[in-house]
Amino acid sequence: MKEGYLAGLDIGGTKLTGLVSDPEGKVLARVQVQAELNEGGFTRFSDGTAYDGLARKVIAILRAAMEEAGTTEIAAIGIGAAGPLAKGAVLNPTNIKLPALPRGLPPRPLYLPLVEPLSREFGVPVSLENDCNTAVLGEVEFGVGEETRDKTDLHVVYVTISTGLGAGVWSEGKILLGKDGNAAEIGHILVRERGLRCGCGNYGCAEAYCSGRGIVRNARTRLVSEGFPEDSPLLRLAAAEGGDIDRFALLGRITPPLVFQAAQAGDEIAQMVIADAIYAGGVALAAIANAYDPEIITLGGSIAINHPELCAPMAAEMRKHLNVVAPEVRLSPLQDRAVEYGAIVLARQAADQVATA
Ligand SMILES: [Zn+2]
Repeated sequence: MKEGYLAGLDIGGTKLTGLVSDPEGKVLARVQVQAELNEGGFTRFSDGTAYDGLARKVIAILRAAMEEAGTTEIAAIGIGAAGPLAKGAVLNPTNIKLPALPRGLPPRPLYLPLVEPLSREFGVPVSLENDCNTAVLGEVEFGVGEETRDKTDLHVVYVTISTGLGAGVWSEGKILLGKDGNAAEIGHILVRERGLRCGCGNYGCAEAYCSGRGIVRNARTRLVSEGFPEDSPLLRLAAAEGGDIDRFALLGRITPPLVFQAAQAGDEIAQMVIADAIYAGGVALAAIANAYDPEIITLGGSIAINHPELCAPMAAEMRKHLNVVAPEVRLSPLQDRAVEYGAIVLARQAADQVATA
């Protein structure tokens, strides 16, 4: 194996994190910033447009992490990014804030290239995977699989419940991937016929109920259909943030933490929203357990990490729908850092490939 420090990047919808580790994966430096992009330009690229602001920002983050780690050289870079991904780039990001597109360029497809600009900047191999696949690698090497020497013995699924709902599957010593490098898109299995609209454009997906975005949209929809009940703690909490605004503007203030807070305070609408999330999450876990028969499913992502009380009822819902021996369901021991650890594993694999080539 080629010796040298490794660099990892976690590109999320709200935060960008850069890491430098020693060759064994011990993290030496970590730099995190908000995922807001304002520098950078747009150019024509492939069948659409490219924006170079993300690459510029993560190059600056990695340089800062390298300085903090006291090194000027790295052996490889691993990146876990919220998908979809294509052509070594993030494709059509829905969560990352970008500057306005200049006239004359096609708005879609919009690529945020990473692999090519980073390998050019640092002169090292760069490996890019979607965040859930990256996280399951982290889980296998540094999380629930850390003590297992032979990784082919492990059957692990990592599920993230954050802005969206997704999974990565480890089986027989590798990540399971499909024809386009995707797999386990469990957020988009159908849980309710003619249900809520999902970010993917379909209706009734698990993610439309069991995700940060789904929880907010479900709460808004229910408040409107119930005619904005006067005694709703959820609306009271939204109004308590100040300002004299109309009731539709109040809907814009609803966030997942507010829904959980309102449910705690006895808000029936908020409680139904959380019951929907538990049901949809449980059905999604059952789908993945029935499909891949894992021994363990770990949960990560901000909603799961901040609300560990969801874990047990979701597992109970899962067990109602199984035709396999139930996997253990637990929070990821890596908490919200599974993607970061996985990015280091990706970097190590990329460095090893160069060394053996
Ligand atoms: Zn969907």
